[in-house]
Amino acid sequence: MYSGIQSAVAELGVSVLTVGGGDVDSLHSNNIQRNRVFDLINADDFDGIIFQSGSLISYITEERFFSFCSRFDALPSVHIGFRKSGYSSVVVDNVSGMKELVDHFIEVHHRKEITFIRGPISCTDADERFEAYRESLLEHGIHFNEDLVFQGNFLSESGLAAVKEFIDNKKIKFDAIIGANDQMALFAMNELLRRGIRVPRDVCIGGFDNLISARACSPALTTVGQPVFELGKKALNLLVEIIEGKTASGTTVTLPCRRFLRRSCGCISVPVKSSDLDDADTTAYAFFEKQFVNLLKEDQSSVIDFFINEIITFLKNGCKLSELISSLGYILDKHSHEIPHHLHNKIRQIFFTISEEHFEISRLKRQEEEGQLFSFIDDLRKISEPDAIREYLRANLINIGIKEFVVVLYKDIHNSVLFYSNSTDESGRVFRSKQILPGGISSLRPHFNLICLPLFETNLDIGFFLTNPTDYNPVFLEMIRGSLSGTMQMMDMITKEREYGVLLEKKVQERTAELQQALDKLEQISIRDELTGLLNRRGFLSTADRYIALAKRNRRSFICIYIDLDKLKIINDTYGHAHGDLAIKAIADILNETFRKTDIVGRMGGDEFTALALDYSESDCKLIIKRIDLAVEKYNKLNNNPWVLRYSFGWATSSQEHGFDIDTLLKLADQALYRAKEEKRNNGKGV
Ligand code: GH3
Ligand code: MG
Repeated sequence: MYSGIQSAVAELGVSVLTVGGGDVDSLHSNNIQRNRVFDLINADDFDGIIFQSGSLISYITEERFFSFCSRFDALPSVHIGFRKSGYSSVVVDNVSGMKELVDHFIEVHHRKEITFIRGPISCTDADERFEAYRESLLEHGIHFNEDLVFQGNFLSESGLAAVKEFIDNKKIKFDAIIGANDQMALFAMNELLRRGIRVPRDVCIGGFDNLISARACSPALTTVGQPVFELGKKALNLLVEIIEGKTASGTTVTLPCRRFLRRSCGCISVPVKSSDLDDADTTAYAFFEKQFVNLLKEDQSSVIDFFINEIITFLKNGCKLSELISSLGYILDKHSHEIPHHLHNKIRQIFFTISEEHFEISRLKRQEEEGQLFSFIDDLRKISEPDAIREYLRANLINIGIKEFVVVLYKDIHNSVLFYSNSTDESGRVFRSKQILPGGISSLRPHFNLICLPLFETNLDIGFFLTNPTDYNPVFLEMIRGSLSGTMQMMDMITKEREYGVLLEKKVQERTAELQQALDKLEQISIRDELTGLLNRRGFLSTADRYIALAKRNRRSFICIYIDLDKLKIINDTYGHAHGDLAIKAIADILNETFRKTDIVGRMGGDEFTALALDYSESDCKLIIKRIDLAVEKYNKLNNNPWVLRYSFGWATSSQEHGFDIDTLLKLADQALYRAKEEKRNNGKGV
């Protein structure tokens, strides 16, 4: 059917988009995903639409089908395989197909006792086919005999039962069996062959439907099939005529069924009816026949060469081999009485050899093509990086005969993003899904011919792709669809995982920073005194260790001073603890300001403070104490405290041969402090 539409496309020069969804509301698991492509069609972008209604309607009521179609109501339309008054359609004539088959049995194979296996009662198709059988008999003056009819049910068992009934029970004589469908005919044939009855010599067999098994069985079954190619071709022709106003909307075109004459009725070659051929073909065959007849009369020795040359010429002109052999065979048979037997056989032998070789060549060609396609699909499955997928498509599509290829991924309900296009490098563009392509379908060059297929996995809409028709079997496109869907899903999963990974890493970094801050804070707390902000005992000692180590390396001298507030207990007891704190903070601030930034000052606990200073001589020390005195004096003057800030101090220097040990130094300084306090007390200075 698709080939038929393509044939009309080539002749009419129209632009076509073929959208491959599935049966509407079918129970097939993925048809919801499959049919999302139907939503892409924007009626405004097209002049008309063809529905493959016979398939679309398989699982639904007529009412539901028309509600599905209603979104395209604005467009002229043609339905294939579905007839309804008021709707334009292309349908098949069942009756005449069957009648022609019976006619053929009578006229060509001279059968007179033709049995018939009926289909189920009150089935229109079955009834029509039976009526066609009766009509043909009547037309040929053959008496209709009720005994030759078996009531079947379209199932295979009816075929077997019919043969048993005719032979074992009724014991009737017959020279043909026609089944109302292939299924019953095929099983009747099996039973005849099992019983040693020769087909077609003793009994000719025919069926209806043209099933694949009808072609594959031996002998191949003569049958009637729908002219699917013609259905497609006629549908597009009719649609264009309606759009152009040449044919009224609502027209129904009925096409005759097509006979497939094969071995089961005794046909070796298919007699070609002139109606099956184009005018050009008919003329060519007529000319061939004329030349052939002349040669038979004048020069029989060159008949073989003539046939070979003619076959080559016909093939070069694009003639299909099977059709050519049928037609030439028909002409050959027609003149069989004028040809010597050996010559006739020789020509048949040539037909056979050519067919065999042709079959072998096309088989090899197909194998090679399939090999390429399979490796394309296989390798595609292995890639998941977006850029790698694009690169792969760009490099390999051409090898499988695909020129145009566009991959679009759904972004949200209404929007899509361009993932890949053969004709442009700009991927990542976002556009309304209903435009199908970033610039819209109208942006395409005229006479585009594209197929749009869905990309999906179970319960997952991925997007769709557009491509041009190829010489490949459409099944291959379905395979590409499946493989690309898998690749896209994998890509999406990996991208998401990676994004998640990046997010996770960021989170870890954030958490690490937070932790570091907390640790810093913790360290601050552990080495700093909260009240004064100076180093606490721990902080002072550990810093002093590093400080002294540095001083030792550089052979530098340093000094350690110990300070203690005087009478803090009394300030506490008299004015409250807050005043005591104030005094502690005051001396801390003063020490902090008096010493250099490179010196270290700490609160050893209570009202005791220490300072470690580099490169101070004893005179420097006195100077420092002087500065502290002045600062304390200034403090007492400026602050209207009910108490007076006072302190005592003692020091020790590294030059005093006491070694470089902080503990010793502190002890010495503390002793000096103690002495100072003693002295103050002894001097009656109120300490
Ligand atoms: P002295 O003149 O002999 O140094 O006597 P003092 O009153 O200063 O007492 P001492 O140095 O022996 O003891 C320090 C006192 O300081 C003990 C305690 O009551 C008080 N103190 C220690 N830490 C704090 C503090 O953080 N805040 C306040 N308000 N008082 C403190
Ligand atoms: Mg004190």
